[in-house]
Amino acid sequence: MGIEGTAHTLGIGIVNSDNRVLADERRIYSPKAGIHPREAAQFIADNFKNALDSALEKSNLEFNHINLISFSQGPGLGPCLRTVATGARALSLHYKIPIIGVNHCIAHIEIGKITGKFHNPLVLYVSGGNTQILRLRDKRYRIFGETLDIGIGNMLDKFGRTAGLKHPAGPRIEELAKNGKNYIELPYVVKGTDLSFSGVLTSAEQKLKAGAGLEDLCFSLQETAFSMLTEATERALAHLKATELLLTGGVGNNERLQEMLGIMAKEHNAKFGFPKNYCSDNGVMIAILGLLMYNSGIRHCIEDTIIKQKFRSDDVRILW
Ligand code: AMP
Ligand code: MG
Repeated sequence: MGIEGTAHTLGIGIVNSDNRVLADERRIYSPKAGIHPREAAQFIADNFKNALDSALEKSNLEFNHINLISFSQGPGLGPCLRTVATGARALSLHYKIPIIGVNHCIAHIEIGKITGKFHNPLVLYVSGGNTQILRLRDKRYRIFGETLDIGIGNMLDKFGRTAGLKHPAGPRIEELAKNGKNYIELPYVVKGTDLSFSGVLTSAEQKLKAGAGLEDLCFSLQETAFSMLTEATERALAHLKATELLLTGGVGNNERLQEMLGIMAKEHNAKFGFPKNYCSDNGVMIAILGLLMYNSGIRHCIEDTIIKQKFRSDDVRILW
């Protein structure tokens, strides 16, 4: 069983030892104006029992069938992480089931590798708080490039908030962008394989307030930010001579981003893919990573399950 709860989504996933999905319950906190950490944690606590019961019911399982409890140990919002860790510890102690804390970012990567049958892909991981370009080397996912300020999802959500769109704004911006006709110039900031999104956000907000059309701005924001991602990713792909490219994380749901990366990968004869239905936060990816860790001999006692708000992807030794 995997329990996800780093920010907006409480996910309870159950997989069997072959990674077959037996349950995938998700409860998504949708705030009026940006994620409030304490309210998000309260949402997780309020929905925990209901999501857990549904996951067991849908999988036709009881707790005595569960062999491992995995939970998202970080990175994420402190109050959310603490709520999920407390729930996972309580279940582990009460039912005497081993517990394992996992890195949320690595979980996004591993589910993509397993569902897409990748070997050693270059990874573009794009979510609310994270934007990273990584590849496995000498037992760690090395970060070849990343955002120097905010994650791309945060940038989209913040722009959406200014424009009065519902949170999370990414999917709505994608829809509005389809009707955009005119490209409005925005700052384009790529530094080697690193990126910066705060300037493009400020500029887009200023242009919106000055009267630019929302559809044109959504279109321009996507074209600019996704071109930045594609350029930085292409640079890393060419440098590493990678033959596979994996897109993962919530922003990976975006079809325009998928299209741009797909074209770029094709030009380099690289295989391209993303975990369909599992780009967004979910409990299944936490269960899958917990299993990988457990099967490679890793064990956590309760003292090891302390949350890690700033848990870096390259802090994890990849033993599988
Ligand atoms: P995650 O935390 O990995 O679930 O990612 C959440 C982020 O993904 C939020 O910032 C959303 O706005 C963003 N997102 C979800 N769907 C889309 C989409 N279709 N296009 C762009 N961003 C998206
Ligand atoms: Mg995520």
